Order: sequence, then C-alpha cells, then structure tokens
Amino acid sequence: MGLIAGAPKQFVSIGSEPVLRHTVRAFLAYPGIAQVQVVIHADDRDLYEVACGSLACTRLLPPVPGGDTRQASGLCGLEALVSAAPRRVLIHDAARPFVDAGLIDRVIMGLDRYDGAIPALPVADTLKRADAAGRITGTVDRNALWRAQTPQGFTFPAILAAHRAAASADRCDFTDDAALAEWHGLLVGIVEGSERNRKITTLEDLAMAEQDVTRGGATIEVPDVRVGQGFDVHRFAPGDHVWLGGVRIPHTRRLEGHSDADVALHALTDALLGAIGDGDIGQHFPPSDMRWKGAASKVFLADAARRVRDRGGRIGNVDLTILCEAPRIGPHREAMRSAIAEILAIDVERVGVKATTTEGLGFTGRREGIAAMATANVLMGRDGPQR
Ligand code: MG
Repeated sequence: MGLIAGAPKQFVSIGSEPVLRHTVRAFLAYPGIAQVQVVIHADDRDLYEVACGSLACTRLLPPVPGGDTRQASGLCGLEALVSAAPRRVLIHDAARPFVDAGLIDRVIMGLDRYDGAIPALPVADTLKRADAAGRITGTVDRNALWRAQTPQGFTFPAILAAHRAAASADRCDFTDDAALAEWHGLLVGIVEGSERNRKITTLEDLAMAEQDVTRGGATIEVPDVRVGQGFDVHRFAPGDHVWLGGVRIPHTRRLEGHSDADVALHALTDALLGAIGDGDIGQHFPPSDMRWKGAASKVFLADAARRVRDRGGRIGNVDLTILCEAPRIGPHREAMRSAIAEILAIDVERVGVKATTTEGLGFTGRREGIAAMATANVLMGRDGPQR
C-alpha cells in the first residue's frame, strides 16, 4: 500500500479527469448548492486551472489559497464566503470524488435538526488495541464508533465562529470540522454515509476509483436523458368517427389524412423520433407511399418505439395534449393511456393524456380540426450505440 506520490491526490486523474474535477462537478450538479468555493495550495494554481478551468460556471468561485493545515485551509474557505453570507455551508474533502446527491441530501436534511451534520458509517471490523510490539492488549467496543466522512454541513455563522475561536485559542489539532464544532459546543449529528464516498489516499484507492469510472459506476456519470416534442394537426371531413390516441371515438365528423389520421399518435411518434434525433414521421412514412394509405397509426408509433430501443434507449414517459372543442376527451382518457402504453410496451403510469379546448379561438375553436402536442422522455443506455 503506497501513498500517491507526485501530484497532490486531488489532482491525480481517474478516468482521464483529475479527482478535483469529479468532486467539483458532483457539487455543481446539485441544484440546491448556490456556490462552490475550492481552497488550494498557492503553488497549485496551474493544476487547478487544468482541473477546473473549463468548468466555467458562475456558481464556481475563483479558488482561494489555503493555510498550513487542513483546519487553517478550512478557515480560509469560510472567510472567503463571508461577503456572500450563506445560511449553510458544506465542507468537503476534495479527495472524495464519489459524493452523490443522496448523500448531500441527507447532510442538508440533518441541518434541520442539528447545528452540524456529518455523514458517517458504522465500524464493521472488530477493533483491537495493541502495544508497541504488536501484542493485543484489548478489544474495543465498536458499537458506539463511527467512521466520519465529508461533506460536513453546518450553519455558516456557527462554524465560522467555531473556526475563528479555535484559531484565536491556537488550537490547530482538529482532524475534521465536526471535531472543531464539538469543541465549540455545537450540536453535531450523524447522517448515513456511503461506502462509495471513500477518500482517495492510497494507490489501491486510486485503482478502485479508476475501475468505478471505467465501469460507469461513479456518481459523476450523469444519466443520458433525452427529450423530444411533437406536434400535429388534421382537419375534419364528413364522417362518423375519429381515431384519437389509438381509440376509435364516435363523432359527427372524421379526421382527414392519408393514414387513419390519429393526430395524437402522430404527435407522439414525432416526439419519440425527436428524442433520438431520427427525423420525423413524414420521413419514415411518406404520404406518397401507398403502403400507409388508411394505415393504423399505432404502426408508426410502434416503429418509433423500436427505433428508440434499437439505439439502446428506454422510454421514461410520454405526455400528450389534445386541442379540440369536440369530441370530449375525458371519457376516453384511460382507454387512450392504455392503448398508448400497450403500443409502446411501457407502464400506463408513464403515459399522460390531457385535453383542452382553445376557448372557441383559432382553427380548433372553429371546429375545423384537431391539434395534438406531445413530449417524450428517453433514457439512453450507457452501452447503446449512440456513443
Ligand atoms: Mg399527421
């Protein structure tokens, strides 16, 4: 087991990117965090630029130089935030790049109950006490023992006051911010930590982190979510029923079109094709092609779903809005949701169907036709061919 030599561990690369960049990005990805302040050694400005320069985000403040100890650096970071006067602050080890949103959530929620909240894990191994020669002199009760991690959260004025008091008292021996807060009389509580939120200290840690990243198991892997939208209009013609959302609805007119003119399924089809950037319904099923004359539109929608799956994608949800004065959609809503869910082979709870009139305005208001708008959400698989 060796310590990482050369560059400070937060600037060593895992998965081709410096540890610090992974760490900073995890916090920038958390919407509730207003600002990220990195504290660096004054000599590491160039390394910082390489690691984080291109993150270019107004929430990422310019780095500030730290002090001689971890504790002194912590105070430098806090002093840099005084003018911003945040209500709360999370203090994190740059060498823990696998912090995730769930962990940050728990720490922040812990601050509703305590002045400070830290993530920690129970001790699984039996603990021994030994003398200098390595002879065991006792077994330590591990039940009340916890392994402290970061980010450690505090109300900002309280931890700032604690740090300033420690500096005034010449106490520079605290190994984490919670210890300093406890010393200052703050109430600090434990929230559930995470085994993956480990600190990269040794070469073995680095190798494991590298594996995590290359397997895509790291939290920094942001889900590849796509969104598509679709819109369609068909005009009314003499007839006695319309097809809408895959459901045949008796009506005083029909919708005119090359296929069955199911305007709702057409909008959904385009939304799915849009999400994967694969053209539109007219390109795949041209009206000039006699094969699609009078076709059931579920064929088009099913084909779009197949294209999503062929690219390694999964449909998260679809949402449809139908715009018309008549027929009334409400009585058919559940039948439409079921039909669409079946065509797409997804759960019905992932299908939204809504309708609105346009208050008598415009072509839909004049009952000249029906319009439909749709949105589709697609999660692309990590191993899909899109990469
Ligand atoms: Mg159409």
